[in-house]
Amino acid sequence: MTSAVLARQTLVLNRSWLAIATTPVRHALSLVYTGAAHAIEPESYQTHDFDSWSRLEVSENEPYVSTVSMLLKAPEVVVLRQYSGVPRQVLPFTRRNLMRRDEQRCQYCGCRPSAAELSIDHVLPRSRGGETSWENCVLACVQCNRRKGSKLLQDCGLRLLREPQAPQWSPIFEVATTHQREAWRRFVSDRHWMRSG
Ligand SMILES: [Zn+2]
Repeated sequence: MTSAVLARQTLVLNRSWLAIATTPVRHALSLVYTGAAHAIEPESYQTHDFDSWSRLEVSENEPYVSTVSMLLKAPEVVVLRQYSGVPRQVLPFTRRNLMRRDEQRCQYCGCRPSAAELSIDHVLPRSRGGETSWENCVLACVQCNRRKGSKLLQDCGLRLLREPQAPQWSPIFEVATTHQREAWRRFVSDRHWMRSG
């Protein structure tokens, strides 16, 4: 029981109560123990340091952790006391994610054909050493792709709508929809797509 509970996930909020991550209960408890975080009772928003958390009554039908000297409720949510940032995670480069970043739009003329009519264009052509990366790839429609060919931008008269960059995704919002937990609901907003820069 205890080892399964320790591997259970706890939602982590930053100092501004913005959900930023999930972490195993084991780590969440150590954050509370060291004073880096406070545990939260989701129903009342009551926050606890380790001492007051360890004095909460543990019921048999909710997740708890037993140590040598005590039983501890497994926290559903903890709030960090110092950190107020939002860690970001770079998405893997895939056609699907590129479609999403570029909003299914040709990045040269701005048209929005069907997905099948959009191809991945290497801004610096592969034949000239251009990499397949977020920074060097954009969606292009058939016409623009043909016009560009393996030329450099300045040689084909095309211009990018915007500088290609890696999109960034705040991992917690992904968790929110796939592993939504009742106790987390009031701490996590809807899926959120964040752009870099
Ligand atoms: Zn186009």
